[in-house]
Parts: sequence; C-alpha cells; structure tokens
Amino acid sequence: MRVLIVSDIHANLPALQTVFQAARQAGGWDEVWCLGDAVGYGAHPNEVMDLLRAQRLRMIAGNHDLAAIGDLDTDDFNPAAASAAEWTLSVMTREHYDFLAALPSKTVIGDYTLAHGSPREPVWEYVTSSLVATVNLEHFDTPWCFVGHTHVPVIFCWNESTLHSDPLPFEPGDPYQILGHRLVMNPGSVGQPRNGDPRASFALLDTDAFEVTRYAVTYPVREAQAAIRASGLPGILADRLEVGW
Ligand code: ZN
Repeated sequence: MRVLIVSDIHANLPALQTVFQAARQAGGWDEVWCLGDAVGYGAHPNEVMDLLRAQRLRMIAGNHDLAAIGDLDTDDFNPAAASAAEWTLSVMTREHYDFLAALPSKTVIGDYTLAHGSPREPVWEYVTSSLVATVNLEHFDTPWCFVGHTHVPVIFCWNESTLHSDPLPFEPGDPYQILGHRLVMNPGSVGQPRNGDPRASFALLDTDAFEVTRYAVTYPVREAQAAIRASGLPGILADRLEVGW
C-alpha cells in the first residue's frame, strides 16, 4: 500500500492542493494519513477538510483541531493562534465540526502508530530531541511511530549500540529504509513549515517496500497569504509563510 502522509496543513489550501498534485506525480496513494492540525492559522478550514475527506483518510486530532471546535483551552496559545482558533470555530461547517470532534488523538494502523505530538502526550508534547524521542519509545508498541506538531521534518532512529535515538535530517529525495529500525518520524508541515524552508513538506510511505520518502514542494504562498489577510486573520500568520517559520 502507498500512503500519503501529511501533517500540520493548518487550513492552507494552496499548499495542500500542490502536495496532492506532487504526490500524484510521484505515483499516487491508496490512503492519506493525516497527523493532525488540518485547521487553525490558515484561511481555508472548510476547503481543506473537504479535500481531505474526499480521500480514503485516516486522521487523528491535533491541538489546533481541538481548539477549532472549542474542545481545548487556548490559554496556552499565543494571541495570533488563539484568535485564529476563534475565527476557525466561527466559520467551520457543522459537518466538519462533528468529524473533528469524533477523531481520536492517537491511533494504530498495523505496524504504525500515529500521534500528533507524541505517543506519550498526543496533544501537546513536542518531539524535538533525541531524549524525548527515546523516552517515547516506551509509549508505543509498533516498530514505527509518525508524529507532527513541531512542523520540522526529522527521523529519530533508535540505535541499539549507543542507546540513543539518533536524529537523521530526513532530507527530501532518497527513500529511507525503515525495516529493521525502530523510529519516530515527522514528515514536516504542509501548510506552515518551521524548518526555514517555506516549501510544503510531506512524505510517501510504501508499506510493501518499507520505504518512506520526504518531498518538499513550492506552492503559491502568495495565494495563501492573500486569503489570510482577506479573512482578517492576524498578518503575522501570512508573513511567516514565506520564510518557513
Ligand atoms: Zn501544527
């Protein structure tokens, strides 16, 4: 099976459309696995949910999905994120609202665990270091775990001899062989990358070949920015897209 893995789309429709186009050119997919935060920050929450739900989709809830349905206290959000959550809640259709409200925050699909933040704390924890990745190995039983939330692509690969989860850069391009490795993988963010590269990031997984490949694609950032500004959302949410932060 071929799986298109997307995370942190954040209501960025031009980015998601470009990712779908690129993934189609790269051979297409049987299923889409969304690691959460489909909405929040961006101007197209309903259009993004329409597009996602038209696929054979497996999805878990991220903190911004929960905030967008009023299911999470936004006290810990920065002011721009909190006002985006409020705006999203005000425009979200009832159908998408109900869909998001029914999502689990963590799920297991065969040999793969999906969690937005981390398997230990699916909603909030950021897997940003080797130490956090290693501690989390005790919180999932499958060989492989896919997370989002940090918006930074990385693979933390458990190393038996050093007893560390070595961070691998996970550059776009070459397929990474996962068989025989226990790892935590983050495909990066579709709609609000924070790794200094403004391109939309995603991964394709081939479950028969045990290969995962990351892609980074240029999308019409200006379209996403114009929609954010036109919606009256905080300008910083538009500005940050062009620098990939
Ligand atoms: Zn996010």
